[in-house]
Amino acid sequence: MITYSRQIIDNKDIRNITKTLKSDLVTTGPKVPEFEKKINKFVGSKYSVAVNSATSALHVACIALGLKPGDWLWTSPISFVASANCGLYCGAKIDFVDIDENSHNICVKKLEKKLIEAKTKKKLPKIIVIVNMAGFPCDLTEIKKLSKTYKFKILEDSSHALGAKYKGFKIGNGKFADISVFSFHPVKIITTLEGGIATTNNYEFYKKMELLRSHGITKEKKMFKKKSLGNWYYEQHLLGYNYRMNDIEATLGISQLKKINKFFKKRTYIKKYYDKNLKNLPIILPTNDKKKISSLHLYIIRLKKSSITKRNKLISELRKRGIGVNIHYIPIHYQPFFKSLGFKKGMYPQSEKYYDSALSLPMHPGMSKKDLSRVFNALKKLLKK
Ligand SMILES: *Cc1c(COP(=O)(O)O)cnc(C)c1O
Repeated sequence: MITYSRQIIDNKDIRNITKTLKSDLVTTGPKVPEFEKKINKFVGSKYSVAVNSATSALHVACIALGLKPGDWLWTSPISFVASANCGLYCGAKIDFVDIDENSHNICVKKLEKKLIEAKTKKKLPKIIVIVNMAGFPCDLTEIKKLSKTYKFKILEDSSHALGAKYKGFKIGNGKFADISVFSFHPVKIITTLEGGIATTNNYEFYKKMELLRSHGITKEKKMFKKKSLGNWYYEQHLLGYNYRMNDIEATLGISQLKKINKFFKKRTYIKKYYDKNLKNLPIILPTNDKKKISSLHLYIIRLKKSSITKRNKLISELRKRGIGVNIHYIPIHYQPFFKSLGFKKGMYPQSEKYYDSALSLPMHPGMSKKDLSRVFNALKKLLKK
């Protein structure tokens, strides 16, 4: 089976992990801060907080941005459920903004319209979680402008987008979003097995997320509210969690980050192969935009004149042939849990149309030329029927 994505872990990664395993500190040692510094350098942010998943990063980011029970958090329906769940963890109410049909990211026109309506009803969101789908950046300038007018915070779910660029700036550099979150799950751009990170240029958000990651406890003398009683002393300042990344995971992250440019080159090669070979098939290929460089996490195609039955049949035919295509994503509002919160089919037409026609082709740096031609030949054959 050619999977839609998978990790690439080589002997160097394994040697590095072994070294850390044999060191004195395997959990809270020097590797986590080293990894955070390297991510700051890579994306161009001032601060970052590494945690045990992107889901945890989204949660601590929401708290740091001041999300409280009764507040509103908006996101788009085409994402992983974690983009919405982070708001629910904080007791906030969730709403969605439909996607743009070409980028599959939040539609700025629909967002503005919804903000105008929300303002009259005094129901403006505190946070909007924007998702850089497949690694393709959102319209950050326009969204930033709206955030100033309507006073919401921008939380960027960049789980797909490590290495992506917008107008020459790396995603996560803190120029547009208040906080950006990346995932290091094995299917993403680089992996720490499980793991995630939040980047920001705001010192206050940074310090708050740092506290929240580890029980709300600080060991920094300059933060203490009471007198330090010795170097064993610590204080809990708020209700935090155990969301820490460990030194083994951070070691893998550091080792993987060294290969990110190599990985990106391979992804670019795959994109070019697909762009060139699939262009005459009855499908819509991923969109391009001169202002944006995608991290190429996913290669999503859409069937022209599709129905969900036709698309599902194609998926099962491809999978029968060992081609592990996938769907990103089932609209969040279709989930039974979100149905129980009052969401219904028909509420976000563009997301629903997308869901009926989209599929993700295999896209990862471990693919061979033979894998690529297998995908192409199978698609050609099945789409001609
Ligand atoms: C993978 C992913 C997440 C969750 O990441 P974890 O590290 O598994 O918690 C959240 N949002 C999006 C868009 C993702 O793709």
